Amino acid sequence: MCMNKNVVILGAGIAGLNSGIELLQKGHKVTLIEKNDNVGGLCSGYDINGFYIDACLHWLMGTRKSNKLYKLWNNIDALNDEVKIISLDNFVTVDYSGTKIKVGRDLEKTRQEWLSIAPEDKRNINKFFQVVNAMDKVMSVALKCKTKKSLSDYFKVAYKSPSIIKSMTMSRKEYAKRFKNPALRFAITNMMTGYNNMFFLFDVYSLFSQGNADVPSGGAKYMIERIKNRFLSLGGNLILNDEVNGIEMKNDKVFAVKTSQNHIFYPDVVISTFDPRYMLKNLLDSKYQINKINKANQRINKNPISSCFNVYVTIEGDISMIDGPTLINIDPIKVGASDIDYLLIRPYNFDPQYFVKDNKTVVSLFVDQNHLDYHYFASLDVEELKIEEEKIANNFIAALIKKYPELEGRVNILTYFGPIELEKRANTSYGALQSYSLTDLNSFYFAEGKVKGIKNLYCCGQWTRSIGGTPTALLSSHKIVKKI
Ligand SMILES: Cc1cc2nc3c(=O)[nH]c(=O)nc-3n(C[C@H](O)[C@H](O)[C@H](O)COP(=O)(O)OP(=O)(O)OC[C@H]3O[C@@H](n4cnc5c(N)ncnc54)[C@H](O)[C@@H]3O)c2cc1C
Repeated sequence: MCMNKNVVILGAGIAGLNSGIELLQKGHKVTLIEKNDNVGGLCSGYDINGFYIDACLHWLMGTRKSNKLYKLWNNIDALNDEVKIISLDNFVTVDYSGTKIKVGRDLEKTRQEWLSIAPEDKRNINKFFQVVNAMDKVMSVALKCKTKKSLSDYFKVAYKSPSIIKSMTMSRKEYAKRFKNPALRFAITNMMTGYNNMFFLFDVYSLFSQGNADVPSGGAKYMIERIKNRFLSLGGNLILNDEVNGIEMKNDKVFAVKTSQNHIFYPDVVISTFDPRYMLKNLLDSKYQINKINKANQRINKNPISSCFNVYVTIEGDISMIDGPTLINIDPIKVGASDIDYLLIRPYNFDPQYFVKDNKTVVSLFVDQNHLDYHYFASLDVEELKIEEEKIANNFIAALIKKYPELEGRVNILTYFGPIELEKRANTSYGALQSYSLTDLNSFYFAEGKVKGIKNLYCCGQWTRSIGGTPTALLSSHKIVKKI
């Protein structure tokens, strides 16, 4: 018989909300504590100066109904029959000094287009699409692998050819070198956000081509609102604006959870969903550690975390010159510690109900950042940071207008954020938006589960598996609930 437990969950991002809902469905009593004034964590959207920005979702893995992830999203009401799923024609359009390369949903059409642009790269273009086509089968099995070893054994069997395995574990920059065409080299290196290797690019592009990495209309804010309502309708207790600031131990169990609003909870079970490094350092004695995450952190120069600098603007009038998500090359600008030579432009006119108002369209300008950029920004004082971030935002806009001079006088800044703001938003190490990236097969790690030495404390969330992102938050929390 299932004994109903009193569970306290720390943090109301995707992992906290999902574990909360699944536990309520199993009959447990759940209290969810969140430091911010709303739920969502890194997966959030905001109203700013009369406009709405989605500060998260570029794509959501699991939008295809037959997919296992869809069932989990549907269970928490993130996706349902009423939610319109928007399928863009192109993953991205790359505009490299005027050469346009579409990374399209239709793989065969895209392959043909690439061949006509770069016939000199025929062999490597065909190999690229061969792997993208095969990823569907690979991922459906890979998702079932529970350990790093079973995953790597699987790849050895699935791809008998070592050269394919090798190509999958290469950095995108390294892999791109095999293409002679400079526009293709630029496209492969930069078409996807973050620092993950070719495997992740093959995977995401394959999922996109199958309609399994699309966007729910309304984006993050409305998706999170639906999930929150499901949690509340099941009788969950949600506490907002309250930061967990202490965990009291008695013998080998968490005895009490304390918060900044002087609440004290005496749970049977605790699930921590935010960055475990932050949690262990700030809330517990240093003798408690999660070795796999420590190891991942020691390898951070090889497996960087992914953060970003993201500028949101409105553009007045016609923006048809920007044909969906677009990657352009720019004169290098310094962002944090990095010299950046690209800009990812995301016009949100694909969802006009939410993102277009008074003939003005919300557009985001995005570049990757990592732990080194975080350290750079963190070394600045408040005033220096303000000046530096404003300069970066203006540089992004100048680069946009250089590419599209017709936008002069029509672009207005709504807001911007970088690693420092992301750190504040969710107590995420280095201001990461995703956890340690995947650069080789050895860098896969699974660390969700109990904290060694503490009988009733579990960890889940994006930091407990490599890559991170909303699917990791969802799957790791789903797995934890089964243990309670
Ligand atoms: C700009 C951007 C773009 C992204 N794009 C995508 C995308 O396209 N697709 C995708 O899948 N993912 C994307 N992500 C990543 C995705 O948002 C995250 O990986 C995911 O939301 C993490 O969920 P989580 O529940 O594991 O952690 P979090 O969202 O970090 O949730 C942890 C929660 O704990 C709270 N918390 C922290 N400390 C405390 C404390 N002491 N007390 C109480 N509460 C606390 C935090 O406020 C937060 O709400 C993006 C993120 C950003 C920022």
